[in-house]
Amino acid sequence: MAELNLILVGPPGAGKGTQAERITEDFNLPYIATGNILRAAVAEGTELGLKAKGFMDAGGLVPDDVIIGVILDRLQAEDAAEGFLLDGFPRTVPQAEALGADLSSLGRQLTAVLLIDVSDDEVIRRLSGRRVSAKTGRVYHVEFDPPKNEGVCDVDGSRLIQRDDDKPETIKNRLAVYHEQTEPLVDFYSNLGLLRRFDGSRPPAEVHDRIRAQIAALRVEGSL
Ligand code: ADP
Ligand code: AMP
Repeated sequence: MAELNLILVGPPGAGKGTQAERITEDFNLPYIATGNILRAAVAEGTELGLKAKGFMDAGGLVPDDVIIGVILDRLQAEDAAEGFLLDGFPRTVPQAEALGADLSSLGRQLTAVLLIDVSDDEVIRRLSGRRVSAKTGRVYHVEFDPPKNEGVCDVDGSRLIQRDDDKPETIKNRLAVYHEQTEPLVDFYSNLGLLRRFDGSRPPAEVHDRIRAQIAALRVEGSL
């Protein structure tokens, strides 16, 4: 079976984490979410966390030289040998170049880059209502995807919180950073023939169906 080396791209709040939870289960892939790795490092007070915290709180990006090594190391882990789903990395062209160089030095290549597209207005609606379980990482929305019991996770009853960077002022900054620094990846991967675009304004189940069908087709192509 060919490797499935996938990247999720899209503005903050596009639904990457929501879809990742389903796709990793469908295709049994390790989920490597830079934001989750960094938030855990901040919570544990590690050297990485100390370096990252200020940038994250302001809605900016952590410098490339801080994040690239961490993610490339993570991709060397045994569970990622047959494939992976990256969410939140790469977020800049230098990160994408570093990833490409690293994979090719290992004789590996990307299968596809999945772009989930939504408008800025929708991003603001989604991030303002996003709630996450600090324990399980499961994502909810107060209006679009509420938990069964208000304020607690369906999975284990843990408390739901609002991320510090989901406050209105920070959301605007994150969107500006996305347009300036991450959106150039759309052309970058389009030129490499790797980009697959999905309309993220559709309901979660519909976005999922489309992405799953696309990955299944890519896997068949890869094994021919
Ligand atoms: P990202 O990982 O791209 O930042 P999330 O998956 O955390 O985005 O989703 C952001 C918010 O939008 C969450 O509150 C989530 O419940 C909600 N959401 C995700 N996908 C959809 C969708 N297709 N329609 C409506 N709301 C959604
Ligand atoms: P996310 O959970 O993907 O929304 O990421 C939360 C925050 O973590 C971002 O706003 C950035 O500050 C930081 N971050 C996550 N991934 C990266 C990355 N690849 N490069 C730089 N900063 C990142």
